[in-house]
Amino acid sequence: MPLLMVKCKNCGFEYPFATQMNAETLKTIRLDNSKENCPECKRISAYNKADYFFK
Ligand SMILES: [Zn+2]
Repeated sequence: MPLLMVKCKNCGFEYPFATQMNAETLKTIRLDNSKENCPECKRISAYNKADYFFK
């Protein structure tokens, strides 16, 4: 199963989203200004649904 990933806006590091779900579920949920804490640079940025991708 592919992992739902997000790419850090600060350093470009790609890491898995804390809440894993499939593409169908992702379509149905609201994901606006979701705060993510990058494990690489420790910076918190806000992400929208378009910033998430499967890998
Ligand atoms: Zn980062």
